[in-house]
Amino acid sequence: MIDFYNVSKNYGKDVKALSDVTLHVDRGEFVFIVGSSGAGKSTFLKMIMREEVPSSGSIVVDGVELNKMKPREIPFYRRKLGIVFQDFRIIQTKNVYDNVAFAMHVIGATQKDISRRVAYALNLVGLSHKAKSMPSELSGGEQQRVALARALVNRADIIIADEPTGNIDPVMSKDIVDLLMQINLIHKTTIIMVTHAVDLISQYDKRIVKIDKGCIVSDTDHPEVKDEADAKKAAEPVQEELPGKNNIGFYEDVNSDSGTESFIDSYGLPESSAEEVTEEASFASAGADSGSNEN
Ligand code: ADP
Repeated sequence: MIDFYNVSKNYGKDVKALSDVTLHVDRGEFVFIVGSSGAGKSTFLKMIMREEVPSSGSIVVDGVELNKMKPREIPFYRRKLGIVFQDFRIIQTKNVYDNVAFAMHVIGATQKDISRRVAYALNLVGLSHKAKSMPSELSGGEQQRVALARALVNRADIIIADEPTGNIDPVMSKDIVDLLMQINLIHKTTIIMVTHAVDLISQYDKRIVKIDKGCIVSDTDHPEVKDEADAKKAAEPVQEELPGKNNIGFYEDVNSDSGTESFIDSYGLPESSAEEVTEEASFASAGADSGSNEN
């Protein structure tokens, strides 16, 4: 699904953000990317998003070589991606429903599709009851779930989550990662999640890629990362569970008789809208620039 072949990225003469990175991610795989600040994680994600191109090497996503992509093809490519950021980037002047619906409006989806899919996505993230709420009325964890609903509503093949738990408390953080896990499981969505939360991710049996100074220094559930998490845990006071932990109701929704699975199968963009999207609007649908695309 995603292949990096000997990818290096330099910024100017002095900064080597990535050095000779070779990596394969399977379709439907869940990969955590860890590493200290400045290690090259964002650069790695920007390459997948085709925001940056390699100085050398090549990147192939879903059979397409990104280096060779024409500018007019980029918006269509980005429709494959659902992007979730640390700072949520949801539109503060739109309610929960409209935030998620906006991602479909910008790609010209029909009203019928919008109502069905937005309802589905909000149900999936456990926010149906907050559809009319404004972002200011939501907790950080809830805002991030709106961002997740927006990332998946257009049936992304790949979800890129850049520090999605960076601004939320530990209990909600676990809910967000659990939710990503469920999306991965049910939709077979490939998920790449950058995080500093080694103690949180060490609870999951998923691949962990560690980047240091632009190089991959470990891959898979490497003991070093788990050791780091265990050491950190031992040094910290016990974290009390917050009261009223959210029940996102995910399993209940997916396994109900409400036709959810057949709805998953019926996902698909209206062909007629395919030519209309601009690069800017397409990227807004991925959540990258929502604030500036409201008008
Ligand atoms: P991380 O996401 O792991 O914190 P980054 O990928 O943002 O790391 O950065 C890797 C290195 O590249 C750092 O030294 C950073 O300062 C540098 N860098 C990132 N973006 C740019 C840029 N646009 N111009 C110059 N240097 C950059």
